[in-house]
Amino acid sequence: MNPISKLRSQLPFPLRRLADLAYNYWWSWTPERLSLFSVIEPTIWQRCNHNPVELLESVAYERLSQVAEDPRYLKRLETLAAQFDAYLTDQETWCHRVAPQLSLDQPVVYFCTEFGIHESLPIYCGGLGVLAGDHLKSASDLGVPMIGIGLLYRQGYFRQHLNRSGWQKEYYDNNNFEHMPLELVRDEFGQPVTIKLQIRQRIVRVQVWLARIGRVNLYLLDTDREDNDPVDRSLTGHLYGGNQETRMAQEVLLGIGGIRILQVLEIEPSVYHLNEGHAAFALLEIARAEMELAGYSFYDVEDRVRSRAVFTSHTPVANANDLFSADMMDSFFADYWPLLGLSREQFLALGARRLGDPWEPFSMTVLALRMTRSANGVSQRHGEVSRQMWSILYPEREEAEVPIGHVTNGVHARTWAAPLMADLYDQYLGKEWSQRISDKEIWAQIDAISDEQLWKRHCILKERLIAYTRSKVRQARQARGEAASDIAAVNHLLNPETLTIGFARRFSPYKRGYLIFKDLHRSVRILSNAKRPIQLIFAGKAHPADDEGKRIIQRLMEWCRHPALRDRVAFIEDYDMYTAKMLIQGVDVWLNNPRRPLEASGTGGQKVALNGGINCSVRDGWWCEGYQEDASGRGINGWTIGEDMGTSDQVVQDQIDADSLYDILQKDMARLYYDRNGQGIPKGWVRMMKASIRTCAPVFNSDRMVAEYVAQIYAPETPIESEPILASAVS
Ligand SMILES: *Cc1c(COP(=O)(O)O)cnc(C)c1O
Repeated sequence: MNPISKLRSQLPFPLRRLADLAYNYWWSWTPERLSLFSVIEPTIWQRCNHNPVELLESVAYERLSQVAEDPRYLKRLETLAAQFDAYLTDQETWCHRVAPQLSLDQPVVYFCTEFGIHESLPIYCGGLGVLAGDHLKSASDLGVPMIGIGLLYRQGYFRQHLNRSGWQKEYYDNNNFEHMPLELVRDEFGQPVTIKLQIRQRIVRVQVWLARIGRVNLYLLDTDREDNDPVDRSLTGHLYGGNQETRMAQEVLLGIGGIRILQVLEIEPSVYHLNEGHAAFALLEIARAEMELAGYSFYDVEDRVRSRAVFTSHTPVANANDLFSADMMDSFFADYWPLLGLSREQFLALGARRLGDPWEPFSMTVLALRMTRSANGVSQRHGEVSRQMWSILYPEREEAEVPIGHVTNGVHARTWAAPLMADLYDQYLGKEWSQRISDKEIWAQIDAISDEQLWKRHCILKERLIAYTRSKVRQARQARGEAASDIAAVNHLLNPETLTIGFARRFSPYKRGYLIFKDLHRSVRILSNAKRPIQLIFAGKAHPADDEGKRIIQRLMEWCRHPALRDRVAFIEDYDMYTAKMLIQGVDVWLNNPRRPLEASGTGGQKVALNGGINCSVRDGWWCEGYQEDASGRGINGWTIGEDMGTSDQVVQDQIDADSLYDILQKDMARLYYDRNGQGIPKGWVRMMKASIRTCAPVFNSDRMVAEYVAQIYAPETPIESEPILASAVS
């Protein structure tokens, strides 16, 4: 019996449709659907990290029977189940109208090494994965025929704990796939569908799990099988764990294994989309399969591979992690290049930045650029940086002619909008706002929402964030065995009346998490201003091997204990999609101060703007396009920090940016925030909140992003008429 039928059979009869809903992550976008599960048993819902399958399996049968007798609940279930059915069977989707040549017979296959679908499926690390999740969700909503390919990590990314000295400690939880909304893919005899793959001189058997993301099937490869060598079983253990060798093995699995799984599942893609270079070995395997079929040489099939493959780059750093030494290439591929009819030199040349240099490492980005028909960065700025960075591969072209474009990232509004805000938008912008999210005219109506209403709802979200932060900090202090007085002090941590800035992201040094404390005296003075105080909430993980990142977190923890700051600076441990949601929905301001031009896009600030928060960011990534100022050079929808001095002296650049940040905090931000009318409403601030929503929501959303991928990259031969971008059946 498949797991959906099994779960269905365990539920009281009137509730059996809950099983269908639980096994499709469609439930995760929109609060209305989430609450269908949470109301059954809120404490268990929390304990199982908002995983509906585990919830339904754990709740006492008596409670389920109770729910099954609640006519209001049953009515809601019936309505949602009907919506779900209509959604899955809707033929008249946006994509069907504008690009009917893309069909499920020949889908777009989207490869990524991580997917951030929901906090209960922890197989993501950060921005890349969450973006991939949002991409699949919008593809589903727009009816783009898409299949996802990724890895199912038994331990996922690490969990973060900070010890008493503020040092990050990593630990891992095991994912229990059998109790998650995942189905092991089986053949008609009930046996798991598997492929075999040679990795590190051993045969590895790979099975595959299906996660349903609305209309999109996401296939996740898994090597944790008893018939594999223990080393190979742990191949799909940790996301971004281990050394370069593990990483290479995982990338071979994702790329080559991914293509073989598609063959076994009889999926014939029209487009292979490599989201970042990790999966670029797929290109070799597509070529090998073509050669096997038609008997041509590698160079004969190369164009055929290229004509179906597209590539998105997410890093503005040429020497990012995906470089492999020739030795390592030898050890993994010595048996493989003969299959392509290539010599070692010819093979290594596919990933070499400079030909003829024997010390040149093999770059996954170079392989991807060589063997795809389209390459893009993830913001306009990142497109420029990428053209400059990779012009070395196109010596005959001017830099502006380097064939790398851009599609700016966006976020899935229905996942990231707070229920309270979505409800306001429903009331004042019309129920269709999220279906037609890219329609600027809808967002031009934002002034229809009264300042009082918008402010009140924002304040509720902020209070909720503060309560959440306190509970997380209390838990962490208890876990560290801190003194009772320090645990009790959590009750004074943060004040809902105070201007609240959020900073949450990976603690890579380039993100400069320390910048606001660059001049400690000055920041203390600004934050503890008696009339216009400011408070900060931090969250984020440093990569386990990144000691510099860990030292930044450690310094932040010292500032959390600083006598003048202890009530106004907080760090939430173990950043994940749930904490992200609380933060981006509740903060007044989102701070982003990476070294330029290292933030390819960034998406956290886009989620904030959708909820009425305001961005304060250096001009980098998406903010180069998002930021708007008036004729006098004042920001309309947020602030921009410092300016790029074009210097490689980081101390100088840090000082300039920190000075600028302090000026903004003191002279602009705090003044605007604390300037209240008779009713206590900060009119100027709310005006900026509205500008933030109006300018960002229609542009920096993933419906617009996926529509651009369709029109410019997946199906560029179709001139897409001025059809409005329309997501289906979401209300
Ligand atoms: C959105 C998101 C990110 C990406 O944020 P950036 O602003 O791009 O750094 C990272 N992690 C989580 C959990 C997120 O939800």
